[in-house]
Amino acid sequence: MRFDKTRTDAEWRAELSPEQYRILREHGTEPAFTGQYRDHHEAGEYRCAGCGAPLFSSAAKFDSGSGWPSFYQALDGNAVAEKTDRSHGMVRIEALCRRCGSHLGHVFPDGPAPTRMRYCINSVALTFRKKQD
Ligand code: FE
Repeated sequence: MRFDKTRTDAEWRAELSPEQYRILREHGTEPAFTGQYRDHHEAGEYRCAGCGAPLFSSAAKFDSGSGWPSFYQALDGNAVAEKTDRSHGMVRIEALCRRCGSHLGHVFPDGPAPTRMRYCINSVALTFRKKQD
C-alpha cells in the first residue's frame, strides 16, 4: 500500500508530540477510556492528526463501550485505508489515513447498523473541527 510521502521520519518526530508519534507512526494504542474524544458528542468532523485529512463525521460516531472513539463508517470511501494486521498474535484490520499513512486504529465487524462495522480509533490520531452554522 502506498501513501503520499508527506513527511520524513525526522519531520514527523519534530511535528508530532511523543504520544502522537508513538500511535500514528509506530502503530501504538492509547490506553482505553483516556482519550479526549471517547465521550465527545459535538457535531463536526474528525480529521487526521498527522495531515489534516477529513476522516470521520460525528454523525457516524457511536458509543461502543470499548473505551475508544468509535464510528460505523469513514467520511467517504477513500478517507481511510484498511490493511490486514497480524501483530500481537491476532488477525485484525488496521485503519490508516489514506493520505499520509498514519495509523489510526482498527476496524471490527461488530458495529451497529447500517454498516455493522466499528472503526475503533485513537483520540490521539484525531483532531476535531466543530460544524460551522
Ligand atoms: Fe493523515
